[in-house]
Amino acid sequence: MTLSTATRLSNEENLEALRRLDQFRQWHSLEEKRYCLVCGKLITGRQIQVAGGTRGTDPLRLSCPTDGCNSIPMDWVLPTDEILAKVEKLAEEERKASALKLAAATIGKGKIVYTDKSHQHFVSRLCRLAFHLKRHSKAVPSNP
Ligand SMILES: [Zn+2]
Repeated sequence: MTLSTATRLSNEENLEALRRLDQFRQWHSLEEKRYCLVCGKLITGRQIQVAGGTRGTDPLRLSCPTDGCNSIPMDWVLPTDEILAKVEKLAEEERKASALKLAAATIGKGKIVYTDKSHQHFVSRLCRLAFHLKRHSKAVPSNP
C-alpha cells in the first residue's frame, strides 16, 4: 500500500518522468510496452504511475499499475518475442485453470463429488440416518 497520491501529469511530463527515473531502458513514447517481472503483466508507459514530487521535495517515483505490485523500473524489461510468448503461455494456462475450476464447480453443484474419504463419510451418515429412521418408526406408532 502506498501513502503518496499519484501526481497528475501531462503526457509530456509523464514521458519525461519515465525517461528520467527509468535509467535502465530508453523510453521513446508512452505507448511503449514493458513486461513487469514482478507481476508478470505487460504494461504501457501510459499505465505506469508517477507518484510523489507534490511538494517539490519528494523524489518522483514510478510504480507498476498492477495492484499490490511493488516493482521498480529495473523490473520492467522490454517485451521481446520470447517474453511475449511466455506471457501468452501464462495467459493460456490461466484460462485453462479457470475453465477447469468452473467445470469442477458445475459438477460440484449438480452431483455428489467425493473423494474416497468423504464418500465413506457420506455412506456412514446415510447408514446412521437409516438406523435412526428405523428405530424411530418402531418407537412411534404410525399415524391413523
Ligand atoms: Zn508489476
